[in-house]
Amino acid sequence: MKTRVAVLHQMHLERPYTTSKPLKIEEVILDDPGFNEVVVKIKAAGLCHSDLSVIDGNRPRPLPMALGHEAAGEVISLGPGVKKLKVGDHVVFTFLPSCGACSYCQTGRAALCEPGAEANGNGTLLGGHKRINKDGSYYFHHLGVSGFAEHAVASVDSLVKIDADIPFEIAALFGCAVMTGVGAVVNTAPLKFGDSILVVGLGGVGLSAIFGAKAAGASQIIAADLNPEKRKIALSIGAHHVIDSSQEGALEDLMKLTGGGVDVSVEFAGAISALDFAFQATKRGGITVTAALPHPDARLQLSPESISWTRKNP
Ligand SMILES: [Zn+2]
Ligand SMILES: [Zn+2]
Repeated sequence: MKTRVAVLHQMHLERPYTTSKPLKIEEVILDDPGFNEVVVKIKAAGLCHSDLSVIDGNRPRPLPMALGHEAAGEVISLGPGVKKLKVGDHVVFTFLPSCGACSYCQTGRAALCEPGAEANGNGTLLGGHKRINKDGSYYFHHLGVSGFAEHAVASVDSLVKIDADIPFEIAALFGCAVMTGVGAVVNTAPLKFGDSILVVGLGGVGLSAIFGAKAAGASQIIAADLNPEKRKIALSIGAHHVIDSSQEGALEDLMKLTGGGVDVSVEFAGAISALDFAFQATKRGGITVTAALPHPDARLQLSPESISWTRKNP
């Protein structure tokens, strides 16, 4: 079938992107879905910083690639062998397909699925195929989703069925921002009832982490961002305190506020200074989690003593 997708042909274009326009909207041919694949009519898609990380070359991917990895839609046709979904089902895409059979999937760590990671690295669907072509030349898929499109072919293992009464524009956020932010707090850390938490970086992922912290019963939620508008939003959705970690004395203030650091700190800002702040703010025996994408050449410097030994009192 014919459809339209947003394609990236070249990374590292000059900013501003409003002038260089790295994404081109193109009419393409979507192949019929293969084994365990379906066609989804995209109803909503979110723009995430990870899309920008491909566009600016921070996380290079094979090109040309049809971008977008946070989307929701409706299943409109099925390939052979599909049992999990039917036509008319509403679905959210997950940017990490899980095969269900590898050692990670079988031990409850589907986010580390090895065939899923390999397919994502190769820019194919989970089965190893590409289904988008223009004049016979195939485009790569972005994390099994390629959601900046009118339609997408996807593996059933990249899709989660949702209730039909959930609005698509809200459902789409569960494909990346909510999954990443809430998952970091409740699965990766995991935050225990009554723990204190620091959330650094208040984009869609960080704000979702605040929801996760509330749901998990955090006793004290501190939110940090350089942008005062984002700090205001954090307060309005449940953060107890907000800080600007770039300000002189911010770490000392946090230490006083928490009585020596937080139980859990989660970082989504993408700057090494932010990750360093999150680590320094974590109390002895606490946990620091990062899901950000700093530049691959960036390095976090840690003293081994700071990992294993007591923190200096501020
Ligand atoms: Zn994302
Ligand atoms: Zn797997």
